[in-house]
Amino acid sequence: MNETHIRKRLPEEISRRLQSLRVADGKAVAVLDASGLDEAARNRLETQALAAIQQTEGISEARVGLVADRVKRRMIAIASGKGGVGKSTLTANLAVALARMGHRTGVVDADIYGPSQPKLFANEGERPGVSGKKLTPIASAAGIPVLSVGHLVEPGRAVAWRGPMAGNALGQLIDADWGETDLLLADLPPGTGDVQLTMVQRHRPDGVVIVSTPQDLALIDAARAVQLFREVSVPVFGLVENMAGYACPHCGEISDPFGHGGAETAAQAMDIPFLGRIPLALDIRAASDAGTPPAAGEGAHADCFAAIAGQISDWLERNEG
Ligand code: ADP
Repeated sequence: MNETHIRKRLPEEISRRLQSLRVADGKAVAVLDASGLDEAARNRLETQALAAIQQTEGISEARVGLVADRVKRRMIAIASGKGGVGKSTLTANLAVALARMGHRTGVVDADIYGPSQPKLFANEGERPGVSGKKLTPIASAAGIPVLSVGHLVEPGRAVAWRGPMAGNALGQLIDADWGETDLLLADLPPGTGDVQLTMVQRHRPDGVVIVSTPQDLALIDAARAVQLFREVSVPVFGLVENMAGYACPHCGEISDPFGHGGAETAAQAMDIPFLGRIPLALDIRAASDAGTPPAAGEGAHADCFAAIAGQISDWLERNEG
């Protein structure tokens, strides 16, 4: 039996994907192109190809290899020195803004002790599927696939995982079957502890965006976060100032409950780019918490997120690996 005989007998789906086939002494080795298939489909393809080749008369042994144009996936971490500064809100909105710019963006909620992405993307209570040995991300109305520890435990139940368990859970979320997603935003836990360090050392994000509110105390913590990423040589894209200036919903007057300009000055002092400011606004909170990220809409707030996303997008283009 030679190659031509085998080729003729292969089902259409398999012969279309056949890249090479060698037969010698009754042993067949086939290489198939598995581009664009998820893990379950890849396994199916492999099993069917093996069966089809093994059925051929005169073949005593068959081997099948799969190759795929791996999607080159990049990851950006969103970090903050402390909690409550709007890191999760920014992650969700930047993901939407980057998707609008054409990036196939997904969100990993690495904030394992306070996961809020399921709420921000309105898919709380849903469970990820499994494909082969990998988790499959959960779709959202905003069009962003999401995976969060919040999707693995009961809502509202505190996660008491320590170092290695937390690290493994995070690994499963990041190494999930992200399919065509080519950009992952990782919402890191606040602070500069072990979970953050393990995550950046193991999964090496392409860069990190630091979020801070304008108060001095928050900025001191942000500086600590910058320091952590510098020590492990992860590029810091820059600093975003969130909750900057409050526009009174009645008279429109802007006040600065947390001060003004502090983050920009701090970014200069730390020698990192200042990426922009997001105002403190009732509708950012209301829309985000209701699962409809304002970055998906139109208007001044959507523009703020788009401006920051644009800088990240430019950076990614300039540093195409
Ligand atoms: P973190 O992830 O840093 O803990 P969150 O993103 O969960 O912070 O934000 C904390 C709270 O502040 C949420 O209720 C969120 O809706 C609100 N918030 C975040 N950013 C803004 C903003 N720019 N304007 C108004 N509320 C905001």
